[in-house]
Amino acid sequence: MIYKRSSALFEEAQQYIPGGVNSPVRAFKAVGGDPIFVKEAKGAYLYDEDGNKLIDYIASWGPMILGHAHEPVVNAVIEKAKKGTSFGMPTEIETDLAKLAVSMVPNIDKIRFVNSGTEACMSAVRLARGYTGKDKIIKFAGCYHGHSDSFLIQAGSGAVTFGSPNSPGVTQGTAKDTLLATYNDLSSVEMLTDANKREIAAVIIEPVAGNMGCIIPDEYFMKGLRELCTKEGILLIFDEVMTGFRLGRGGAQQVLGIDADIVTFGKVIGGGLPVGAFAARKEIMDYLAPIGPVYQAGTLSGNPLAMSAGLAMLTELNNKPEIFRSLADKTAYLHKGFDRVLQGKGIPYQINRFGSMISVHFTDKPVVDFASSAKGDNETFKKYFHGMLSQGIYLPPSAYESYFLNDALSYEDLDATITALETIIPQLQ
Ligand code: PLP
Repeated sequence: MIYKRSSALFEEAQQYIPGGVNSPVRAFKAVGGDPIFVKEAKGAYLYDEDGNKLIDYIASWGPMILGHAHEPVVNAVIEKAKKGTSFGMPTEIETDLAKLAVSMVPNIDKIRFVNSGTEACMSAVRLARGYTGKDKIIKFAGCYHGHSDSFLIQAGSGAVTFGSPNSPGVTQGTAKDTLLATYNDLSSVEMLTDANKREIAAVIIEPVAGNMGCIIPDEYFMKGLRELCTKEGILLIFDEVMTGFRLGRGGAQQVLGIDADIVTFGKVIGGGLPVGAFAARKEIMDYLAPIGPVYQAGTLSGNPLAMSAGLAMLTELNNKPEIFRSLADKTAYLHKGFDRVLQGKGIPYQINRFGSMISVHFTDKPVVDFASSAKGDNETFKKYFHGMLSQGIYLPPSAYESYFLNDALSYEDLDATITALETIIPQLQ
């Protein structure tokens, strides 16, 4: 494949945009080479500026669960845009989307819309602090909750991809209120709660992690975490920015059978437009301004275009919940196919999968937390990424990211992906 035009566009972009990108992981730094510039996308396919067609496994990092340019979503946005793009005043469609989200997700009575997953998590933590009157939070190494200051402590995703899980610019004062635990290790949380009695407002976690590759939560860890939070008067925040409306109608809470106190959303809830949200029971949400003391606001929050895209997306998922099963089946099929190709080839690997999230790690040990994920061989990953790309398969350009399958992927696409892996095996040995 030729990427001449993408490379030229990247060259130009670097003169005007730091690193040529508006979000670091797009720059291909972890895998080398120039990023690919997308021209358009439809269904399961990306079409780049050089005319290459790629099977897409990132789905805009999750939102395009129904495939790109899905007609009901596109039409809803077009129709809405004709009537004005922003008012800074209440609109009925905000309540429509709120009502639908609240009916789909367990344990939430009210929801507030924001513009990104970062804003959702940042606001959820402020709400938890205001509600409990406590300052500290616990997060897990390798989990990513957006780029707000409190979370850039041993963060996953792009932050760790670029070797900056703790970013300059985050003050010591902020950092001291974020305590770090180990994913899937309840004793690491207990140690922190014991040492900081009555000081912890919230524990925030990706209920199925996707920012150190896909990491599956241990059942007893999650149950224990819920019990510990209840016992200590700590709010449990499920960051469902990736998992919400992806793992099932009710997200990870429903699939894992664990109740969270506050839930954050992003990605799917905006149908590909910039939206995030946070939600909880009434008594917690009513702590927010204008009725409660915790301030939170946004000029473009509840934007009509974003609401219409989200409403079209969630309506379809709500009406056709079989999509979640079908996505999980496709992901299992891919997993099986990859196993068939990789087994016995002398390439150490692990595949983690949960619902429609999956990742391949080049290590011989189970990947259960950030430390085990970081043991993956990045040189092999680079060859794997570029090898697959040369076969027309677009995977996340970092070993610390989950793949997100979309409903438009056909079994022929999955077979083509498995065949691509078979073709590049000699490059990995
Ligand atoms: N939380 C999780 C679990 C995420 O994966 C992300 C982004 O990937 C965020 C929060 C931040 O969302 P955004 O990039 O929309 O700010």
